[in-house]
Amino acid sequence: MSLDIELRAALAQRKALGRLRSRLNLASAQGVEVEIDGQPYLNFSSNDYLGLAQNSELREALAQAGGRWGLGSGASHLVCGHSSEHQQLEQELAAHVGRDRALLFSTGYMANIGAVQALLGRDDAVFEDKLNHASLLDGALLSRAKRQRYGYLNYEQLELRLGSSTAKRKLVLTDSVFSMDGDCADLRRLSALSADYGASLMVDDAHGLGLLGDGRGAALHFGLDQQQLPVYMATLGKALGSFGAFVAGSETLIEYLVQFARPYIYTTAMPPALAAASRVALKLMQEQGWRRAKVGANIAYFRRRARELDVPLSSSHSAIQPIVLGDDKKLMLVAEQLRQRAYLLGAIRPPTVPEGSARLRICLSAAHSKKQIDSLLQCLAELLESA
Ligand SMILES: *Cc1c(COP(=O)(O)O)cnc(C)c1O
Repeated sequence: MSLDIELRAALAQRKALGRLRSRLNLASAQGVEVEIDGQPYLNFSSNDYLGLAQNSELREALAQAGGRWGLGSGASHLVCGHSSEHQQLEQELAAHVGRDRALLFSTGYMANIGAVQALLGRDDAVFEDKLNHASLLDGALLSRAKRQRYGYLNYEQLELRLGSSTAKRKLVLTDSVFSMDGDCADLRRLSALSADYGASLMVDDAHGLGLLGDGRGAALHFGLDQQQLPVYMATLGKALGSFGAFVAGSETLIEYLVQFARPYIYTTAMPPALAAASRVALKLMQEQGWRRAKVGANIAYFRRRARELDVPLSSSHSAIQPIVLGDDKKLMLVAEQLRQRAYLLGAIRPPTVPEGSARLRICLSAAHSKKQIDSLLQCLAELLESA
């Protein structure tokens, strides 16, 4: 059998399950209003929570930095790709999240697999929430440590697993805000449990930085210092409207990652112009607290109106508001009807979420107006009633 014949069978199987995914082709910049195939859409699927991705000051900053630095970084950080823009961005990020030092990675995916793989080996154990982001789960796999998964936010189960572990080093791994559910982990409790059982805690704050803790992220939201939450990771591609990611922690942790995190060492540094523009994004995020306040107001408004219109809500109080429909086919039907009415939202199916929990994923942003939120909910209420 040729490779293609085998692959075609796998594709056909996925198609039969109604789970074949496809990409959109945007003809406009990221934002609340986007254009696809000549049609305008109202976008509720972007992670650009603060509406910074196409901000005019950032466009300007990127253009200027491009003029100075050109395009590529030319090499990895440890060869000659590390510029003063990278260096300053790392310092500013570390100060922002209250840690000694930060290390830039090209993507959040790489930051997670890099940090987890570097921190753990065969004799160690990793304790992970079942619904952790794929990059954390993959980092744990790559590390060859003994993997102990606990049920979603089930800290009693975690405690049992921690108590019975005889591993040399133990690492508790969690998302802060879970990307498909929008709930926030109880980091205070996780930090206390980790301390009780001699484990370290690593948190992926991709959906918290810029929103929680006055924009400083989930660690500060929960009042956890570097000792209590030693490995902090967040991305620049979501609330900051940019691209890239970082791990922050003690001087020793970061120097260790520079030496041992393979996805840091063996990859080209992010373009310096991108680092320069990200510095401006960080500054805007810090200075323009109204963006965060607007997200909060939009979340409250969305939940109040959904209740009034009998649209089923989840327990999430974050900008990620899932509407769990359960059945894949029903989800795809509703998603298609929403698309026809020019709404763009995530239709998330297994295996990204557990079987039987297919859902619409609504992401709210500072750039949405109440009127736009209202029109989405009216439309959803109608569609769900007839679905
Ligand atoms: C988006 C995301 C990542 C990956 O970050 P990228 O920079 O997009 O690679 C990691 N963890 C979580 C929880 C995310 O939502």
